[in-house]
Amino acid sequence: MDYFPLFARLHGTRCLIVGGGEVAARKAKQLLRAGAAITIVAPEIHTELEQLAAEGKLDLRREQFSKELIAGYQLIVAATSDPAVNHEVANAAFHAQRFCNVVDDRELSSVIVPAVIDRSPLLIAVSTGGSSPVLATRIRQEIEALFPPAMAELAAFTGQWRAAVQDRISDPDERRRFWQLIMNGKVADLLFAGRKQEASVAMQASMDGHAPTHGEAWIVGAGPGDPELLTLKAARILGSAEVILHDRLVAPAILEMARRDAEFISVGKQAGKPSIQQDEINALLIKLVRAGKRVCRLKGGDPFIFGRGGEEIEALEAAGLPWQVVPGITAASACAAAAGLPLTHRNLSRSLVLTTAQGADDYQPDWSNLARAGQTVAFYMGVSQLPDICRELINAGQTPACPAVLIENGSTLQERRIQGTLATLPQLAMEAGAVSPALVIVGEVVGLARAQTAVQHEAAPASLWSRAAARPTNGQ
Ligand code: SAH
Repeated sequence: MDYFPLFARLHGTRCLIVGGGEVAARKAKQLLRAGAAITIVAPEIHTELEQLAAEGKLDLRREQFSKELIAGYQLIVAATSDPAVNHEVANAAFHAQRFCNVVDDRELSSVIVPAVIDRSPLLIAVSTGGSSPVLATRIRQEIEALFPPAMAELAAFTGQWRAAVQDRISDPDERRRFWQLIMNGKVADLLFAGRKQEASVAMQASMDGHAPTHGEAWIVGAGPGDPELLTLKAARILGSAEVILHDRLVAPAILEMARRDAEFISVGKQAGKPSIQQDEINALLIKLVRAGKRVCRLKGGDPFIFGRGGEEIEALEAAGLPWQVVPGITAASACAAAAGLPLTHRNLSRSLVLTTAQGADDYQPDWSNLARAGQTVAFYMGVSQLPDICRELINAGQTPACPAVLIENGSTLQERRIQGTLATLPQLAMEAGAVSPALVIVGEVVGLARAQTAVQHEAAPASLWSRAAARPTNGQ
């Protein structure tokens, strides 16, 4: 270990910043946030620093640096653009045994500054020992995404209750288990939802041993397959749920974000194959939540778009159990984005219909509505009915030359796009051997689709926390 990580309390500590430019101003603002007592020494001073001095937030010394200055300060920051001066500052600090940071020069620095995620009182600091500040920043961004700003609330809240819990539960192991339950349970959820008052009531109930006996269900949209298209909320819930009830449509790379000890139950439905019925899924959900489990019901795309999420919350509600829904990016949005195809357009399409040609036995879409000009129609679960869809639209008055596209495995590494018109698409799709899951989009906007697949995660750097590539195992 080349550096010892520590968090320094700088309230009222005298810090000297050598340099009066923009870099110095940036450092001064960071140190001010930590309450440091700052002196700037430089012959010329940036207006921002002058402003801060005028507001009484720091002291200015309009002069050249001299090594005698060092003695009065505990932390020295060299932030000039002159390497000779920075060198002199570092030297003086070294001889006086003072901590010194030379901006962008780790060789001269005795302390370096990490990339920070500030959810005070929670602080997460990341360092690569100065070898790659850009990587440290990248990691910071990834962690930032995992810890929503509401983490600050949770940290402050637990700080307030710490002494009371310590009084109440004397055994350290028991206390740790209690806190784990709080962190992964209802209290944390209420805080994340901004419901502080209710969180306090729930916390008191847990302290009194009256914690609810049932668990909770989240009906979560997992998006179309690319792990980076998952919402932060979905990732957080996935990381804390005890049981994950997932569709076959959910990519393995997404399931990898779950807790290591989570139980996985696949309840996937696949067209043409015997599979678990919706009633059974509802019953299983209810059984698990009643048994006190925190259940994540993870569905492809959005739970409320051809996802039967509505039926699941109805069942939970009828059983008197709590639920929350987390939306996801639906296939139509993802496929259109990947193709650079705007679903609505000022001149070409003023409305968007999300529909399916599949349904209960006697279901027939209203084809004359779907064949109207000036709209975009996205057909879910449409691969096997593609010839019928195109024929019915033409019969209902849509022009055979109307652009139409089939997008298979949209947003994943296996994405394929077959583009044509209502007249040509069925034949093209058959020749290409198109398979589910695929979305069929019909309308003038399809003509705007880019020939090249838009830059996706295969070209973009992979997320550091989702190492595996998205591999869909899906059906309809
Ligand atoms: N709730 C999901 C839809 C479930 S129905 C959502 O909001 O996206 C399943 C159908 O969704 C598939 O048959 C297919 O038409 C479409 N679909 C899901 N993922 C897809 C993907 N990655 N690419 C293309 N179509 C997809």
